[in-house]
Amino acid sequence: MKSKAKPTRPVEIVTDETQHVPRCPQCREPIAVQATVERFNEPYKWEFWGRPSERWIKCQGNQGGHNYVHFVTLVNGAASHRLAWVVAPRKTPYEQMELMP
Ligand SMILES: [Zn+2]
Repeated sequence: MKSKAKPTRPVEIVTDETQHVPRCPQCREPIAVQATVERFNEPYKWEFWGRPSERWIKCQGNQGGHNYVHFVTLVNGAASHRLAWVVAPRKTPYEQMELMP
């Protein structure tokens, strides 16, 4: 007796792993690289920002009190989606000055 095994269809299993793919909170685009910055385009010439002529902002918003900028930059001609979390710099107290001689 031959048993004709049906080809198993791939089943998409949704696990918690999928939650770990960073996505833009607004447009749900998968994000390749994300970083926390103090200001957009700073530090200037950082690789993360790509080149100004090959970069455009896709969306901006606020989630959990943090402003973010979703931008696209070209890496070797391919679009790379990146997310910059703009966090205001902490005001440093006078501690640092006191440490100076
Ligand atoms: Zn977006």
